[in-house]
Amino acid sequence: MTEDSLSQPPQHLSTEEFREHGHALIDWIADYWERVEDLPPVSLVQPGAIRERLPSQAPETGEPFVDLIKDLDSIVLPGITHWQHPSWFAYFPANASPPSVLAELASAGLGVQGMLWSTSPAATEIESHVLDWLVEMLDLPNSWRTTEKGGGVLQMSASDSTHTALVVARHEAGRLGVQAESMVAYASTQAHSSIQKGATVAGYGHVRLIEVDDEQAMRTDALRRAIEDDRSSGLTPVFVGATVGTTGTTGVDPVRSIGEICAAEMLWLHVDAAYAGNAMICREFRHHQDGLELANSYTFNPHKWMMVNFDCSVFYVADRAPLINCLSILPPYLKNEASSSGAVIDYRDWHVPLGRRFRALKLWWVIRSYGTDGLRSMIRYHVGLAAQLAARIEADPRFELVAPHPFALVCFRCSEGDEATERLIQKVNETETVAWTGSELNEHPMIRVSIGQSRTEQRHVDALWNLIDQLG
Ligand SMILES: *Cc1c(COP(=O)(O)O)cnc(C)c1O
Repeated sequence: MTEDSLSQPPQHLSTEEFREHGHALIDWIADYWERVEDLPPVSLVQPGAIRERLPSQAPETGEPFVDLIKDLDSIVLPGITHWQHPSWFAYFPANASPPSVLAELASAGLGVQGMLWSTSPAATEIESHVLDWLVEMLDLPNSWRTTEKGGGVLQMSASDSTHTALVVARHEAGRLGVQAESMVAYASTQAHSSIQKGATVAGYGHVRLIEVDDEQAMRTDALRRAIEDDRSSGLTPVFVGATVGTTGTTGVDPVRSIGEICAAEMLWLHVDAAYAGNAMICREFRHHQDGLELANSYTFNPHKWMMVNFDCSVFYVADRAPLINCLSILPPYLKNEASSSGAVIDYRDWHVPLGRRFRALKLWWVIRSYGTDGLRSMIRYHVGLAAQLAARIEADPRFELVAPHPFALVCFRCSEGDEATERLIQKVNETETVAWTGSELNEHPMIRVSIGQSRTEQRHVDALWNLIDQLG
């Protein structure tokens, strides 16, 4: 080390420069939100095109910050697919909102690492408290509150939540002497791939995908039969993943009947409501989650449909003891008085990573800024627009709905057949004015239109319908 490097503290932007560029960046984001509607929603770049514009080596000396912001326009934007575009009807929504973005900034500025209660008590206590609020807001079982036997924790994604549930269920079965290779996890054929992936990562020997009925809901008779078959071949059923709002078509598994089977068979019931869980803020959707009190764990994503930007996935357990038993390992350097007293939650014991961001801030600010009433109106607006689009599709003999639309996802195809459907997908995509998802159901092409972008208005759905009408 040279004497020079020893004598120099790091050279930051000055406070004045930080203010100046920070204000400029907020302006840039505000302008982006204003003009995003005029951009093609799906990035049109060729593979490698963005990388080609980057220098082959990192700069030896610092660059002026204005150049960094400039490159947002010249290098970054062409390679962005605009999930914040009001004609975003693809996948499910991934919304950003002003309070959420400002909270991310505050959280980054604080630079919190909230692995333990003692490493920033506010991060833990606000998280526990807001997740307890959500129990009431979504009418979830009261025992899931951190003030009761259960509790909620924020994770990066629903896949992480589901993986964690699989790991805890495996650990519980392992305590009874069951070997992972003989363990079986069940979910419907329409369940999200994260169940299969999580089970593989967690080391389950077997995953069974159970057939669905005409409404895309898991058939409980088939589940019962699969469990019996597995038991008679010497395997051990351990875990069932039920879905409220499948990714393909928002099918809803019968949680209560599945839960009764799980209770009788001593299986772990995990409920994945990644998308549809957000709708439960409105009373009229709650019949879809009937039976949740039978679940051992549950996940939903405010980063899909509650205006909290990615990442923010909620994971609840009905009883936190098995979770903590499974994931708590205490090295000496993490020992501290507050943890030893048992009076605090250390969220490091509630998921795989040790370190954790202050994600609760954005969830807290979004809920406070919109209010439960504002969030409810947003859900109802989207569901209303979806119902209207579905009615138009249903009334037109050229098209047919392929699944019920209990929330704000409309799935349809052309009545004429697969080729017509493929043609419509292609023609609409070629307009480069909307993003939607061409998918498949029962080996036939179909189109998913997910209405839930926070800027989507009636006129955007009308424009989409006009395209379907003209090109279909
Ligand atoms: C989107 C989705 C997931 C995955 O969510 P991530 O947070 O991206 O892991 C899981 N399950 C269902 C039903 C989903 O719709």
